[in-house]
Amino acid sequence: MLDYFDMESTLSEEERLLVDSARSFVDGEVPDMGDHWIEGTFPTDLIPKMGEMGFYAPNLDGYGLPDVSETAYGLLMRELEACDSGLRSMASVQGALVMYPIHAFGSDEQKEEWLPRLGTGDAVGCFGLTEPEHGSNPSAMETMAEPDGDEYVLNGSKTWITNSPIADVAVVWAKDHGEEGTPVRGFLVETDRDGVTTNKIDEKLSLRASITGEISLQNVRVPAENRLPGVEGMKGPLSCLTQARYGIAWGAVGAAQDCFETAREYATDREQFGKPIGGFQMQQEKLAEMATQITLAQLLAHRLADLKEAGELRPQHVSMAKRNNVRTARDQSRIAREMLGGNGITADYSPMRHMANMETVYTYEGTHDIHTLILGEDLTGIQAYQ
Ligand code: FAD
Repeated sequence: MLDYFDMESTLSEEERLLVDSARSFVDGEVPDMGDHWIEGTFPTDLIPKMGEMGFYAPNLDGYGLPDVSETAYGLLMRELEACDSGLRSMASVQGALVMYPIHAFGSDEQKEEWLPRLGTGDAVGCFGLTEPEHGSNPSAMETMAEPDGDEYVLNGSKTWITNSPIADVAVVWAKDHGEEGTPVRGFLVETDRDGVTTNKIDEKLSLRASITGEISLQNVRVPAENRLPGVEGMKGPLSCLTQARYGIAWGAVGAAQDCFETAREYATDREQFGKPIGGFQMQQEKLAEMATQITLAQLLAHRLADLKEAGELRPQHVSMAKRNNVRTARDQSRIAREMLGGNGITADYSPMRHMANMETVYTYEGTHDIHTLILGEDLTGIQAYQ
């Protein structure tokens, strides 16, 4: 894959091994994601296989987790998304949005119960923050948890939840009515509890090879010990999102690199007017710009990893990288599609699939606009959301 400034030469042995094994997994084990994309399905038999490969939260430690470097984790997200955003979303949600909060904020019992099973893919998790009426502003959520003896009773609805229809457990963020000021708290809700329904959302035109659904909670009783004890307020869900957005900043590079390689190969094969289209200046300009933008995104991702490894990463760094790299992938996938002419609109080639996927990636985990406002506030000290 495109590596114009030879960043791969800076990788450690462990990081190189992880890239190689992720790439051979994608080449050897993953079925044609174009077919799944058309069908609107996710190849669920990959879920335990991805667990076996150590793809879920490999940057965490303990509980059988490999504790790889942040660069290695980012490279894994890149390799998965070069295949399809659905594959990366599976790993991101399971690892960064479900295992991370249990690891960071869970009780010892919660960790022991869930982390090994989630790590192997024996159990699937989902992350319920977004609600029908509250997307970009989740702090206005209506889902509530009322204490009742040694239980909580949850009511509310979540939507656009990746994997909710196949999940065993949902991390549900709700307002805790048992506490002063009703702070947001995380609850581990097993999806087979009475009152939980998880309808699938069909007819998506983006991220089709990923299962998305709702979570409806009607008088759902969970033991009080299902509450994540270690965090209170929006810091809980937002710190998970920082982890997942970090992976997205890397993943978007992979999608863009795959588009670039597809366009470059096509441009050298496809002949018009008696020579390869890659021999015309206009096509070369497109490849030159694509390579430049992807290289900038790649450099940003590597620097982000170094900051994270050093413990110096701020959420605003992640906002800038997610915002920039997804925009790059969104713009460049479109150029790649264009270079493939009519063939570019089919599922036989990846760019239009990536291009459609990027509409979701541009919107979830904080929309492009919201990341703009996060940066605006950081740069001026003036908050402009409201
Ligand atoms: P809205 O918040 O209604 O925004 C609509 C438009 O208004 C956007 O363009 C936005 O940028 C703009 N806007 C909003 N506020 C402002 C403002 N203050 N200033 C300027 N512009 C503004 N959520 C989960 O909790 N878990 C998941 O697993 C999950 N998976 C998803 C999977 C898919 C396929 C999709 C599409 C979404 C998923 N989401 C998930 C939800 C996602 O995070 C939300 O869609 C996103 O936060 C945006 O919320 P919204 O769709 O309600 O849009």
